[in-house]
Amino acid sequence: MADGFAKFISLDMSLSDQGRGQTLRSFAMKMVFISISLSIVISLAVILIGSALGLLPVPLAEAVSYSIAMGWIVGGLVAGILCTVLAKAIRQLRESQAEFERLSRTDTLSGLANRRAFNQAFEDIQNNASLAIFDLDRFKSINDNFGHSAGDLVIKRVARAIEDVFGDFHCVARLGGEEFGVIVCGGERKDRVALIEMARVRVACLSVNFEGNLLQTTVSVGIAEIEPSRSKHDTFALADKALYIAKAAGRNRLCHSDGFARVERNETVGMALQAAS
Ligand code: GH3
Ligand code: MG
Ligand code: MG
Repeated sequence: MADGFAKFISLDMSLSDQGRGQTLRSFAMKMVFISISLSIVISLAVILIGSALGLLPVPLAEAVSYSIAMGWIVGGLVAGILCTVLAKAIRQLRESQAEFERLSRTDTLSGLANRRAFNQAFEDIQNNASLAIFDLDRFKSINDNFGHSAGDLVIKRVARAIEDVFGDFHCVARLGGEEFGVIVCGGERKDRVALIEMARVRVACLSVNFEGNLLQTTVSVGIAEIEPSRSKHDTFALADKALYIAKAAGRNRLCHSDGFARVERNETVGMALQAAS
């Protein structure tokens, strides 16, 4: 009985429920019903005791009808106010949960997706996509020569430049340090490589003003194709190896794991298209 009542009045709802509007409405209706019923029962009990003790200032029937009317008005009003407050609290909780979720997937320095969000996107994609790992070249020398804040500013500007090239359609993340991961989706392989090359060129053209000093940097990029027959671990290892080769070959270039022998350095996107086709 007590269990049944507890179940009846429980707000059995998760913050991520799609139909939580309906759940809240039915919860509010239940609260209004319970509140009115309780108000009527309590005031009837008081009236009956008052009548038994001869304390009622009006006839019993009149007192009962007053108490029922007041039960509806007061009980309904109180329940209505409480439900409004509750709905507002739930809305605020829901907003802060969404904000918390967004922050847990965002890199604080660059504002890009973080490694956690990247790993999830990487697990979800099965084919028709390329994984590109971007690593800033000789980045340590920027920190050493101009300080950590200068390095941070360069990371932010590079993040923006890469994001500008890929837009929202592709997953662009900061994997850590001065390393970025991009899952380039859709199109043909050569189109994806062309986009990656475009990002390389954008970074090479960047000029970051730090306290009057114009800082420049370049990126090396390792690329591997995402295929159903290849595990995510192997795909990442291939892109990482390609990145290592691009570094060893002189930096500021792309290397695709499909042709480790062919390290590509293209000054223009047009040439990248040629190299990747
Ligand atoms: P390479 O071309 O071989 O990649 O050389 P590199 O200097 O870029 O690579 P290395 O791994 O030697 O140095 C990376 C540096 O990045 C070292 C580390 O202090 C710095 N770093 C990592 N995370 C951050 C960061 O969040 N902010 C700043 N300012 N520096 C960072
Ligand atoms: Mg580096
Ligand atoms: Mg690195």
